[in-house]
Amino acid sequence: MQQDTLWQAVLGEIELSVSRGNFITWFKNTALLRLDDSTVVIGVPNVFIKQQLERKYNDLIVTTLRKNDVTSPTIEYKIHSPLTHQKTEEPSDVLQPSSATSQESRHSNNTTLVAKPQASSLSHAYRQGLNEKYTFDNFIVGSGNELAYAACQAIAARPGTKYNPLFLYGGVGIGKTHLIQAVGNTVLMNKPDARVVYISSEQFLQEFVDALRFKKNTDFADFYRGADVLIVDDIQFIAGKEKVQEEFFHTFNALHQASKQIIISSDKPPRDIPTLEERLRSRFAWGMSIDMQNPDLETRCAILQTKAQTHGIALASDVTEYLATNVQTNIRELEGALNQLLAFCEMRGLEPNLGVASSLLGAAQTRPKHISARQIIERTARHFQVPMEDTMGPKRDKDIVVPRQVAMYMLRSELHLSFPKIARELGRKDHTTAIHSVEKIEKESRFDADIRSAITEIKDRLYA
Ligand code: ADP
Ligand code: MG
Repeated sequence: MQQDTLWQAVLGEIELSVSRGNFITWFKNTALLRLDDSTVVIGVPNVFIKQQLERKYNDLIVTTLRKNDVTSPTIEYKIHSPLTHQKTEEPSDVLQPSSATSQESRHSNNTTLVAKPQASSLSHAYRQGLNEKYTFDNFIVGSGNELAYAACQAIAARPGTKYNPLFLYGGVGIGKTHLIQAVGNTVLMNKPDARVVYISSEQFLQEFVDALRFKKNTDFADFYRGADVLIVDDIQFIAGKEKVQEEFFHTFNALHQASKQIIISSDKPPRDIPTLEERLRSRFAWGMSIDMQNPDLETRCAILQTKAQTHGIALASDVTEYLATNVQTNIRELEGALNQLLAFCEMRGLEPNLGVASSLLGAAQTRPKHISARQIIERTARHFQVPMEDTMGPKRDKDIVVPRQVAMYMLRSELHLSFPKIARELGRKDHTTAIHSVEKIEKESRFDADIRSAITEIKDRLYA
């Protein structure tokens, strides 16, 4: 709780020092996950945001944390799902302390809260986990997801009557969560008092364990068995966990018998989850199983265009195609690449054109983890056609100074080395030289096309 307040304060200050677009793109869905004397762990939604925070905003974050009396020397950025995070916070204001069990709570010295079906708070309580940003309207349909989309729409229109359960499976980042959340949101839109529960199986497991520990199993069971639509995301996480699978089995039966809708997602089909209990596997086979695939190029382009539009930008078709061709893993990464491009351009006042996209993506995509400082210095020297030893030696001629400065800049941008370390790598004693060099090249690369293309070219070679 305190952590949350602290992080809100930090974000409040950061919001004042970056543009609105950047704030929303890079900071909005972050959270403070952990804080102690040695380490601050900041939760971020994806790898692109992680990279961006590490590279561009780390100093700002450190300074702002300091202003708020956080002086832990290490900052880590960890990928986490903001949904899961929110859910752990939410129940406190939607679940009522049960008077019947308050004595017990006191004894266990714990402020356990129990779901108590109260007319006024119930529909709110059941809303937990849904995020309104996921709708059918902003989901682009194409090969790979059209079947899943059609099934989800049918279910949203008449939950519990068709395709029950619906089992959606496919790799990460291809829109499973988006679709099943859209079902929940649509059901609620049509019928605001419907009891829609969205939960990840990890969260289900956690709540189950807590319920056992605090002897609230019946409340737990009642809560889930009282749903009209139960959406369980990423079911693979309860595989192998016997007790919770059993609980889920009973929940499943109760809901199914009452013709309540069940929607399940997973990263693979039931038959490929080895530790999934047989009886659950057979239950899942009762309804409809749909495989979701990464959409084809055309669909990926359409997704990009729509996402760019929500940022108020009409993306040129060559840029769209470039991104959609080069980021083939999944939609989440595609979206991340787009956000990165847009933020990069906004920061520098550039048009998001093909050149920027390719230099940005070329560097981010194929980045192996094992580039060494030496390789960077060597590559840079070779690019400027000067001897590597000279860049590391005492000479101060202009044709040596620039390559040296670029090498320093690259050590910072690519390896995030500290300034003293950068200075040492290039044979300097004073780390302020490194600071000045990095700043100088950073500034120059904004308006000097030669420097910019030098950097791009060196990177391309490094990561080729
Ligand atoms: P999964 O649950 O399969 O890992 P998500 O549903 O979280 O994937 O999707 C990742 C991101 O990609 C989300 O931001 C989602 O909105 C977006 N996305 C995926 N597919 C589409 C699509 N067809 N149209 C629009 N956005 C999509
Ligand atoms: Mg998901």
